[in-house]
Amino acid sequence: MRKKFYITTPIYYVNDKPHIGHAYTTIAADVLARYYRQKGDEVFFLTGTDEHGDKVAKSAEENNMGVEKFVDQNATEFQKTFANLKISNDIFMRTTLREHNESVQIFMKKLHAAGAIYQSDYEGLYCRGCEDFYTEKDLAEGLCPVHKVKPELVKEKNWFFKLEEYLPRVEQMIESGEMIIEPASRKNEVLGLFKQGLKDFSVTRERVKWGLDFPIDSSQKIYVWVEALQNYISAIGYGRDDKQFNKWWPANVHLMAKDIIKFHAIYWPAMLIAVGLKPPQKIFAHGFFSLNGQKMSKTLGNVIDPNAMVEQYGVDGTRYLLLSQFPFGQDGDIKESLFKEKYNADLANNLGNLVSRVFNMIEQYCDGRIPKQLPSPIYLEMIGEKIEQLEFDEALKNIWQAIAKANQLIDSNEPWKMAKDANKKEELNELLSQLASFLSDLVPLLNPFMPDVAASIVGGLNADKIIKGEPLFKRL
Ligand SMILES: [Zn+2]
Repeated sequence: MRKKFYITTPIYYVNDKPHIGHAYTTIAADVLARYYRQKGDEVFFLTGTDEHGDKVAKSAEENNMGVEKFVDQNATEFQKTFANLKISNDIFMRTTLREHNESVQIFMKKLHAAGAIYQSDYEGLYCRGCEDFYTEKDLAEGLCPVHKVKPELVKEKNWFFKLEEYLPRVEQMIESGEMIIEPASRKNEVLGLFKQGLKDFSVTRERVKWGLDFPIDSSQKIYVWVEALQNYISAIGYGRDDKQFNKWWPANVHLMAKDIIKFHAIYWPAMLIAVGLKPPQKIFAHGFFSLNGQKMSKTLGNVIDPNAMVEQYGVDGTRYLLLSQFPFGQDGDIKESLFKEKYNADLANNLGNLVSRVFNMIEQYCDGRIPKQLPSPIYLEMIGEKIEQLEFDEALKNIWQAIAKANQLIDSNEPWKMAKDANKKEELNELLSQLASFLSDLVPLLNPFMPDVAASIVGGLNADKIIKGEPLFKRL
């Protein structure tokens, strides 16, 4: 039986246009999805947008738009950007879709039926301008950081989830590895949170208008985080299509940036256990990155639009540049100045040049046909394990070392000299056959990272007559 692989990105908040951070997580998920598909597994790849909450409603207002129109517009931006990055998601889930709401209603009723939620008072510091609650530590010298006014102490009726009751079970699942949290540093971080004393949390809001109805109490909307997490099950038909749901759940990997790990590694599995569902198998939280040594922010104006990057470096170039800079699980700095340098060195020179040289020589010296079937003499390390462990930079480094060796093989053998010597025809044929095999071996390794480049190498090799053709990467 084919194995299944269900991978998710977080659903992204539509308050904002897609930036390079969204692209980073989603490209990584795409590499995994393509890798497992190529391996023969049945893959379901989910991404999407998180569209409720007062912040979204307020942004719509600031843009003088109706909220539905606003979320439609921004969700479309995300879809366009992901298409531009060649993201191969199987579904794009939006939390404003009817199907999502249907699943959420069923899930919330189950939580209630299981006795996992109760009504109580929520007391918090509320800023009328933000229409949001703050905790003491969020405030700037006691004032709302946005409006610089003192928030009011406000009490409202809320429904709470009995988190404390499920904590021991969740902690044990993490410790035993029943639910894997990676990298290891993140696992320790999460286990540390249990010691801080986590409390029951509220799953509804009374003051929020732009949200999903809470089926137990019509005065309440479901807290946006609580319903957004449920996209991971609504996307595969929870409560609506049992066959589909049972086929895919539990997710093999929830992928995300580290700032939202608490919700995913503690709150989410606790809610799943409460309704009798399994937790996700693995949660992988990647690091933050800075840009040119600075934190990325709209105020600093250093937010990179992934679409602009695609325009400059191409889709495969963008994917390569983002994943090759530093280890995926760690924090790192993206240096824009290195993009061009790396693009020219690794892509235009190393890979691009290799392909163009081999194709050109086969065209010139062998009439466009690969003379023999000979294996490549260059050792290609199996990078599958590295991809499965999300060590993308290491996997790419290995591939590029092999590419450099292939270029060295050409340089040291000087086939252009062989071509002038009739006695060396056989040797030349063998060398070019080996190089063609190397390119063909390279294709499945490149494919998860650079689907267009891989397809173009395959197309070149399989053509009736191999020709030099257009360069894979134009030098910048
Ligand atoms: Zn405020």
